[in-house]
Amino acid sequence: MSTSYLPERASTLVIGGGPAGLVSLKYAVEYGEKWNQGEEPILVEMESEIGGTFRWRGYENAELVSSKQLTCFSDFRYPLSAPDHPSLPNFVRYLNSYASHFGITPYIHTSTKVISLRKVPSDDGFKHLATLQRLDGNKEPIGESTEVLAKRVIITTGLHVTPNIPIIPGLNSEPKSKNAPEWIHSSSYKSRSQLKGKEILVLGAGETGMDIAYESIMANYPMSNDDDRKDKEYDNDNDNTSLDDNTETEKKKVWIGIRNGFLSFPKVLNNFKVLGFSFNGNLPIDGLITNLFEDVYVHKWISQSHLRWFISDLIIKRVLWLLTGTMAGCNQWCGELPPEKQGRAYVFLNKSAKAMQFINQPYYNLSSIHKKFAHYIDPPKPKGNPKIDIVPFPKKFDQDTGIAIFDKPPKHRSKEIAWKNQICKPDLVVLCTGYKQNWDWLSEDYPKGPEQCEIRGVCSEKDLSVAFIGFVRPGVGAIPPISEMQTQLFQLLSQNKIPIPTSPETYHLLHSPTSRIQYGVDHSTYMSTLSKDIGSSPGLLELWRKYGWFVLFVYCFGAAFPTFYRLTGPFKSEKAKGIVETELWETIQRRGLLGNIFMGVIPMAFYAVINITAYLIEKTWLYTAPLFGLPPPPDNIMPKSHQKKVELL
Ligand SMILES: Cc1cc2nc3c(=O)[nH]c(=O)nc-3n(C[C@H](O)[C@H](O)[C@H](O)COP(=O)(O)OP(=O)(O)OC[C@H]3O[C@@H](n4cnc5c(N)ncnc54)[C@H](O)[C@@H]3O)c2cc1C
Repeated sequence: MSTSYLPERASTLVIGGGPAGLVSLKYAVEYGEKWNQGEEPILVEMESEIGGTFRWRGYENAELVSSKQLTCFSDFRYPLSAPDHPSLPNFVRYLNSYASHFGITPYIHTSTKVISLRKVPSDDGFKHLATLQRLDGNKEPIGESTEVLAKRVIITTGLHVTPNIPIIPGLNSEPKSKNAPEWIHSSSYKSRSQLKGKEILVLGAGETGMDIAYESIMANYPMSNDDDRKDKEYDNDNDNTSLDDNTETEKKKVWIGIRNGFLSFPKVLNNFKVLGFSFNGNLPIDGLITNLFEDVYVHKWISQSHLRWFISDLIIKRVLWLLTGTMAGCNQWCGELPPEKQGRAYVFLNKSAKAMQFINQPYYNLSSIHKKFAHYIDPPKPKGNPKIDIVPFPKKFDQDTGIAIFDKPPKHRSKEIAWKNQICKPDLVVLCTGYKQNWDWLSEDYPKGPEQCEIRGVCSEKDLSVAFIGFVRPGVGAIPPISEMQTQLFQLLSQNKIPIPTSPETYHLLHSPTSRIQYGVDHSTYMSTLSKDIGSSPGLLELWRKYGWFVLFVYCFGAAFPTFYRLTGPFKSEKAKGIVETELWETIQRRGLLGNIFMGVIPMAFYAVINITAYLIEKTWLYTAPLFGLPPPPDNIMPKSHQKKVELL
């Protein structure tokens, strides 16, 4: 990685060195327009190393919540023997290997921040003028700023970089109250040692909130055996106290404060006991949705009506009730969303379920008869039977005492009572309140983020030389492979190799219009939409002719893995067939015969009937309408409220 020489002109400027930046650089080098000497593509990253959020905002024991099969880029895969959910440091090593494997390291400039981007008049297309600032190890500027002129700009500055810090009176408001608890944002949390010996209030019920709530228990309550820490590289050097030596730290309270609710679903389908038999299938949930008739060969009305999401939510809830006794989530007994929002059509599933047994503890209510039929098997508990008390998000902290003061929880969570019968006076508040994006550094003539990019949230027809990559988040899925498909789309659009896509956007999650986060998508619907735009969605006949039955079968039964979109189309790769026949086949094989019947054959047959029916209705309507003087069948049946409003510049 280079920190010295920066060219004055760049055919492509990639801003950000996380997964989205790296894959964008790789495609710019491999598939971008040819460049003149001294005008090579460059990537600038403000931190001293690449890896993005996985490198800089990870913490001890953090693992990917998306599986390696779905998270990896299409042509550079983890070995079969690697765990399904690698640790964050391991994934950062993967990203570094990706950069060196594809020879893009010389184009990367670390410790270099883009402080502004504006357009300048140009005859040769080099119209983006970026002002860059070199930074030292403490992120202080070194020397004067420099400028780079670029022909294309790919913005990959990430969804999870700038902390979103709500101001809570009595905690972090001005003037400071003298008894205010200590607080940190989750981006500053690194290791258990920060939690040890403290009463903790975690605010926010996303995956990081769940992880830190769990870590707060583990920091203060010893496990019966040894402690369960996996990677100790985040440890403070001066903290070597063993938990077992320090019994004083026991019985510390942990609370989790949440606003509306969350939907818990562990990242791996595992640990059920049904009629005395344990199910330990070890199936990553993001690899379970099959392609055929769910993502491909779906009639436009079915995809626009989101029927598949609603039906699968309906069925999954009933199955969850049978297996765990509750429908709010998988073995989730409190903190639920309102019933009308309990489904993957509406929210990001919380796939970090480690804290659930401690949160559930006061509310767990499975009848003994149901338990005999089926139940969820929780992992072993630490000594002392600890719990995490669920409370609403505090409206303030008392100025004099530092005690948290709450409003009532929402009506659907009225059974939760810790907020009124406990004194919540934490030593440390951890704000797991997410991140926000800042576009102040972009001049007026740029879209202010992906919200203003009407082409799949990636770019705008007004200027196809600018892209925003990595700014959608799937309900269940992964951002890196989505970024790969987005950058493929951008390469083709910016070189005028494909027309502007116009098909309706059926992939947005159905967030409420007032929700802070509006960038949720359904992973497989978004991937399959992009593959159609790009021209890399393989036809079944084409697959069979080129690759035979086996690859066709794996494609139909597999999830929306990015490698499928390299079998055919403009980014066809020789490696794809081998990956499909080994790693992707393995995701199907491990479901077993019964799993493939219940998760593959039955849904496929069901959706086949629905899609064929819609097709027959459309065709009958089309041919008979003129006979009765009726209008032709509509192309778009999406309700206005579900159509994404794009604020044009
Ligand atoms: C604990 C944790 C676990 C996660 N687990 C998963 C998971 O399992 N699967 C998943 O898909 N996602 C996961 N995520 C989300 C993860 O953040 C994204 O998937 C991933 O970071 C997206 O990559 P990106 O390149 O878009 O953004 P980032 O990785 O955030 O990279 C953006 C980069 O841009 C740089 N940058 C920003 N502004 C500038 C500037 N002005 N100049 C130069 N550089 C700049 C930043 O320093 C950063 O390195 C997790 C996040 C966390 C915190």
